[in-house]
Amino acid sequence: MTNLVKFKISIIGDFATGKTSLIRRYIDNAFARDYRPTLGSNVFIKKIEITHKNKQYLVSVNLYEVAGQDRWQTVRKTYYSGSQGLIFVGDLSRKRTFHQIRDFWHVDSKDYIPSDLPRIILANKCDLQEDIEDSEIREISNHIHAFTHIKTSAKENIGVNKAFIELITKIFNYTDDKSEESKSS
Ligand code: GDP
Ligand code: MG
Repeated sequence: MTNLVKFKISIIGDFATGKTSLIRRYIDNAFARDYRPTLGSNVFIKKIEITHKNKQYLVSVNLYEVAGQDRWQTVRKTYYSGSQGLIFVGDLSRKRTFHQIRDFWHVDSKDYIPSDLPRIILANKCDLQEDIEDSEIREISNHIHAFTHIKTSAKENIGVNKAFIELITKIFNYTDDKSEESKSS
């Protein structure tokens, strides 16, 4: 028997870090060179089969790309709430986009999500010259309580699938723990 589950994952980070490109790579295995800024938000859905603790699951992965423009602030809040996981995206060729994860995106999201919600940093554009030290990425990752950070290239298809699988696995474990907690309380 296949169990159906739905996970909502929000993808946040500064403009042009590659959020849409990572989603398109994950969902369609495609990459576009032209840049169209995302207005408001986009929702993308991918269905995947996963075996977790010897059970078969059909997971509907609902990816919400949240736009950074100030005028969409109220929209952002509604997108964060109800998420089972968060993806923070930084652009390795622009150090500032990682500082923004720490100083803006983490702060912007933290009132709307549980403090232990699974989150990951994708250090995207690893095909380009890097503008930030690994140690600094690690510090930021610890600061925002990400369980890991993974270097990706949506362009060259590096690390993208692995990153999504790791996050989805974490979400499975997290939701298991939560249902155990509610049973025992
Ligand atoms: P978003 O604003 O975060 O959604 O960013 P986009 O996905 O629209 O990408 C912004 C720009 O960066 C586009 O021109 C993409 O083609 C480019 N881009 C995205 N990912 C990569 C990558 O891994 N490597 C390189 N070199 N360029 C990328
Ligand atoms: Mg976009």
